[in-house]
Amino acid sequence: MTRTISHWIDGKIWDARPDRTNDIFDPCSGEVAAQVALAGRAEIDAAVAGAKTAFDEWKEVSLSRRVKVLFAFRELLDERAEELARSISTEHGKVLSDAIGEVARGQEVVEFACGIPHLLKGGYSESVSTGTDVHSIRQPLGVVAGITPFNFPAMVPMWMFPIAIACGNTFILKPSERDPSASLVIAELWAEAGLPEGVFTVLQGDKQAVDGLLAHPDVRAVSFVGSTPIARYVYETAAANGKRVQALGGAKNHMIVLPDADIDAAADAAVSAGYGSSGERCMAISVVVAVDPVGDALVDAIAQRSRAVRTGPTFDEASEMGPLITAVHRDKVVGFVESGIAEGAELVVDGREVPNAVDSSGFFLGPCLFDGVTPEMSIYREEIFGPVLSVIRVANYEEAVRLVSDNPYGNGVALFTRDGGAARRFEREVDAGMVGINVPIPVPMAYYSFGGWKQSLFGDTHVHGPEGVHFYTRGKVVTSRWADPGAVGDTGRPDLGFPTNA
Ligand code: NAD
Repeated sequence: MTRTISHWIDGKIWDARPDRTNDIFDPCSGEVAAQVALAGRAEIDAAVAGAKTAFDEWKEVSLSRRVKVLFAFRELLDERAEELARSISTEHGKVLSDAIGEVARGQEVVEFACGIPHLLKGGYSESVSTGTDVHSIRQPLGVVAGITPFNFPAMVPMWMFPIAIACGNTFILKPSERDPSASLVIAELWAEAGLPEGVFTVLQGDKQAVDGLLAHPDVRAVSFVGSTPIARYVYETAAANGKRVQALGGAKNHMIVLPDADIDAAADAAVSAGYGSSGERCMAISVVVAVDPVGDALVDAIAQRSRAVRTGPTFDEASEMGPLITAVHRDKVVGFVESGIAEGAELVVDGREVPNAVDSSGFFLGPCLFDGVTPEMSIYREEIFGPVLSVIRVANYEEAVRLVSDNPYGNGVALFTRDGGAARRFEREVDAGMVGINVPIPVPMAYYSFGGWKQSLFGDTHVHGPEGVHFYTRGKVVTSRWADPGAVGDTGRPDLGFPTNA
């Protein structure tokens, strides 16, 4: 009997037998390792009802008490980071050091949320009119949901729930149905930290669970991270149902290398950012834009490093790159490699030749490097989400920036140069939400907000940081008058005129 991974509702594992399940694989062997329950009507309703009941109490819990729970959660996360990382690696396939890094980046958001009393301070204006003061407060929304992708099963949820919960909301996480176990480790840590039951809920599932949350009248807001078509769908559906929504989509991140750049540093960065986590990162570098005459030297340097990347089993300490998430996804990425060749790009490094990729039944694919890519090719137009780097050669800086700006995605972008003037011009004029100068993966720290432009984000707030606090709260402005009877401005009789300030 394979293990069934279930939901976490009302502070405990939901133990009813699921009607539907999804296979969870060991990506190194290709074997089915477990099954995850897929929520239907009963589980969706129970999850939302539990979260709604919990909200009535949680919103009344003092800021000091909420912060104590957050600090306790932070400590437990710190102590059990490796356990959480192992659960990620087991199902996702990313190497353990990478999963530990993922947990660390998520923990930064928990640490940011520990400062919530400061972040929730309102404004106060004394004597705006005679005897009249105004102050503003921010209040939680209620039950909020987070729908997350497979590639960061701990970090992406942690972009959302620490802040949502710190602000006084109750949170329902709908993780990816491809690597669901990390969500339950997190749920246990919350319970141990003293979070009341129902404040953090895990609803396992697929489209049916997502649609159930999007339609449910008691879900007030939805945060989504995933591919662009689903992000657009979630944004439109949630908004049509009157919910607050932020939906982060896919990406095609460019790294521009100017002729004055340090070629070795740029090649190191391209390989780390292109192949780390097998390219299954929304901030992975997918396109290297080589500005003339840097192309030949840069392609040689990247090729040399790409061939040296060790692709192998997740828990083998020698491995730098593990397998892809599923056979279906690996085959899709291989399909892109084949279409790149068919469309005339030059495959300089062929990851299909890695012994593991052909011999093992695991979902392996080694680093692939294309030169001579053009904007018309499908390997340039589509998000591949695998270990495939494309090099496009352009004549000058202007052509490079135009390429980035014309691309429908606008998540991350990087410039490699030694020229401060060019860097300053670039950061001001490039059309993307997160910019790196000699930094290939410019993921903002937790106290800034993360988000792309164009088809990489639907909605107007980015996640975590100050925009996260804004997203999970709504403003209220209180105007109060405590004038003494007979004081200036107190006429002592009704006044039907529109109130003006005096
Ligand atoms: P995905 O869009 O397939 O799935 C994301 C979530 O949507 C999952 O929880 C899934 O269950 C749900 N879902 C899938 N199909 C659905 C449907 N038809 N209707 C309703 N819900 C549905 O994405 P993925 O493959 O899990 O993750 C990879 C994608 O996520 C890539 O495109 C990547 O760029 C993107 N991503 C973006 C960011 C970012 O910050 N912009 C971060 C991480 C990942």
